[in-house]
Amino acid sequence: MGGLGRRGLLIAGAGALAGCSGSSAGGSGSDGTGRGGTSAPTPTAATGGAQPPSAPTGGVQPSGASTGGAQPSSGPKGGASAGVSSSAATETVPGPTTPRTPTVALPSVRLWTPGAGEIEPAAKRVAVAAVEELLRPRGTRGVVEVIDAQYGGILSDTASVLVPCRIYTISGGRVLTSGTTVDVRLTKTRGTWRVTATHPAQPGKAATNLSSAARQVLASGRITLPPASAADIRSGQVHDSVLTTMLQLAKTYRIGISVIRSGHPIDVFGTNRPSDHPKGRAFDTWQINGHAVVSPSTSRSLVTSYMRAAENLGSYNVGGPYQLSGTAYFSDRTHHDHIHAGFKP
Ligand SMILES: [Zn+2]
Repeated sequence: MGGLGRRGLLIAGAGALAGCSGSSAGGSGSDGTGRGGTSAPTPTAATGGAQPPSAPTGGVQPSGASTGGAQPSSGPKGGASAGVSSSAATETVPGPTTPRTPTVALPSVRLWTPGAGEIEPAAKRVAVAAVEELLRPRGTRGVVEVIDAQYGGILSDTASVLVPCRIYTISGGRVLTSGTTVDVRLTKTRGTWRVTATHPAQPGKAATNLSSAARQVLASGRITLPPASAADIRSGQVHDSVLTTMLQLAKTYRIGISVIRSGHPIDVFGTNRPSDHPKGRAFDTWQINGHAVVSPSTSRSLVTSYMRAAENLGSYNVGGPYQLSGTAYFSDRTHHDHIHAGFKP
């Protein structure tokens, strides 16, 4: 499992949620190519304060459809105070005549911490801290939930860490849910990982017509999608081979998706070879039946059975933490923390 972070209620400071202003219609995800020549010197999130120019405010997608999805349980609060004292009791009497201002609470989110099985946990810590600062709601109460931190690529002294997030804010007495996935580029110098660039996902506009498979995946209670991945599907740019495979896998497994299209490097990290992700022909799974792929306590057979199932369902390229026999399978350090399934045109 991922970090058993303690529950925390983070309430962030002030300033309107800038991200809502520019819902970008951009086509593909990050434009940082694997070699990173162009994106290098972005003076970004390492120290926090300033918004890096490479991080368009549109990165925070107001995933409208799911607005208000996570209703916090604000109700029990009254119950707790009811038995406390007479003052609490008298408070309740004039209730009906006082204006109703419902107390809305932000959901509690788990703090992300690297678990035991992580490769180079320091790189992920640095990346997550940068994303939390980049996405922290300003001007409103809000909290960033880091869903996962997975490698887009890890080499000896460079890395891409993909960080899918949900962002909860309160507006008009309601909890709004948005979020994005950020591709964080890092380099290691003298033993220390530093952020060199951040690329928020750009899923593109929602399509007017979606395939049946797309609608089924979006509606599935057994497929958990980060906001950027849900937006990818709503954009109509995810191929049906990906979607139908997810639906079939979900008959057997509850699956946690980390990345589909947006938020992923354009090229396979460290190469010039185009990744299948930006084409909408691949998906990554970070969690199966509630168990993180990266965790040493997750059963190997659960992971390998999922990899084999993905191959049986048509994936020509299945990567994971274990090398299986067969031409479709691969394993490397990058795929230590998730299962990749790619599909041919
Ligand atoms: Zn992948």
